[in-house]
Amino acid sequence: MAKHIFVTGGVVSSLGKGLTCASIGMLLEHRGLRVRLQKFDPYINVDPGTMSPYQHGEVYVLDDGAETDLDLGHYERFTNAPLSRDCNFTTGKIYLSIIEKERRGDYLGRTVQVIPHVTDEIKNAVLKLATPDVDVVITEIGGTVGDIEGLPFFEAIRQFSLDVGRNNCLYIHLTLVPYLKAAGEAKSKPTQHSVGLLRQIGIQPDVLICRTEREMPKDMPEKIALFCNVETRAVIEERDKEFSIYEVPLSLVENKLDELIVEKLSLKAKPLDISDWTSMIQRLRNPKREVTIAVVGKYIRHNDAYKSIYESLDHAGIANTTKVIIRKIEGEDIELHGAESQLEGVDGILVPGGFGYRGVPGKIEAIRVAREKNIPFFGICLGLQCAVIEFGRNVLKLEDPNTTEIDKNCKSPVVCLLDDQYSITDMGGTMRLGTYPCKLKEGSKAYNAYGAAVVHERHRHRYEFNNKFKSQYEKHGMVFSGTSPDGNLVEAIEIADHPWFLAVQSHPEFKSKPTSAHPLFQGFVKACGVYQENKVAGKK
Ligand code: GLN
Repeated sequence: MAKHIFVTGGVVSSLGKGLTCASIGMLLEHRGLRVRLQKFDPYINVDPGTMSPYQHGEVYVLDDGAETDLDLGHYERFTNAPLSRDCNFTTGKIYLSIIEKERRGDYLGRTVQVIPHVTDEIKNAVLKLATPDVDVVITEIGGTVGDIEGLPFFEAIRQFSLDVGRNNCLYIHLTLVPYLKAAGEAKSKPTQHSVGLLRQIGIQPDVLICRTEREMPKDMPEKIALFCNVETRAVIEERDKEFSIYEVPLSLVENKLDELIVEKLSLKAKPLDISDWTSMIQRLRNPKREVTIAVVGKYIRHNDAYKSIYESLDHAGIANTTKVIIRKIEGEDIELHGAESQLEGVDGILVPGGFGYRGVPGKIEAIRVAREKNIPFFGICLGLQCAVIEFGRNVLKLEDPNTTEIDKNCKSPVVCLLDDQYSITDMGGTMRLGTYPCKLKEGSKAYNAYGAAVVHERHRHRYEFNNKFKSQYEKHGMVFSGTSPDGNLVEAIEIADHPWFLAVQSHPEFKSKPTSAHPLFQGFVKACGVYQENKVAGKK
């Protein structure tokens, strides 16, 4: 029978619960255990697919097409646990299912209530992951204890231990131990209050993970333990990591969290071996060179909007023992100040996915510079579509080439909707979502990077390259190096006589890990290193 770990948070949001869950998952896997991870988000949207990146950061897409919270990206980067749409539930998704049942008459005339119907629905969502092949299910509760919208989730996980047995559940609470400069000391009171709230709901945490900026004073764990009714050894310090988020598991190991979990849940586990992870950290800490890569996007000022892109660039840096410095550029800044000046000194240009008009002219300009100056270029989703428009405009000299997402009536719709997309009116969950196969052209850059003829990547888009223009593009040196297996949808483009100009319709950033960088990101960062060497050698 699977054991359960519930991770809650208190004091403030953004404590890094997702990273902590991912790190715990990673440690348990390295002790030979089979884990699953899941997140509950108490907001009412059915999924984050319709939310602005300003509000929510990146939408993380899974193989099955689920549009999920970006914490699931951490889960995938840290562990090998398979993820599906059962790994992310919002209040909206829970209620949608209940209301559908109610409309069907499934409740047989009973009054439908938060307790037991909503809490049962939540508990069933946890149980969905507890299949016989699983040792530990880690469930993260989004938000902070005390939030009104979170209450049904806290109530459900409280009840859960009565259903499956208290010994089969472990409650981990993440809190903040702030350091007050004026007082010159770390403070435990917010943690005490936060645990107090949790205990009012009926949950006694077993483990407290205390986020700190500075090392906690020696007597602090004992004090917190006493006031919060936990063992002293179960008060774990998780200090801020200056270097990399991938170091978080190491500090949890230092504080013996894996041993504590194994003991408290009576798990049959192997001794810990994280040598693969520590050697990855070694490479990360000892880069041999630095490259600067421009990421030209729309939500550049929001740190989380391109999370997986930044992480994937870091992974590729680790693989190439290269430190990747990211220059974040807003498309509109290129429009205002000119591409040449904004891109001065970069060794590579990446244009990520996106929606809508804002920033697109700037992205197209950045791509023109990359193409004309032989700077390595990597386009992702909207990045591919912009590359197609740029090529149509400046190489093919087409009349008014555009995507119909931006201009429905443009003269040359080089990117447009597929026929079956025209009838769709709902915004949520109606894009081309999830994993699709792609056939690669032998000898192309994509083929060589992947080392495979057929690959599978995740998608999240509506618009497609318009095949009516294909032969014109090919005549002018564009290579369609990846297509759907039936050849109908363009998946990857390249420019034959450019050192590294590659764009894909998919989102490879969702399949990169620190211990195995995605081949396209790896190839791109390598090409940026070569570009820089040539620049230094004056070969340009
Ligand atoms: N807006 C474009 C489309 O829907 C690109 C989407 C994306 O970049 N994820 O096709």
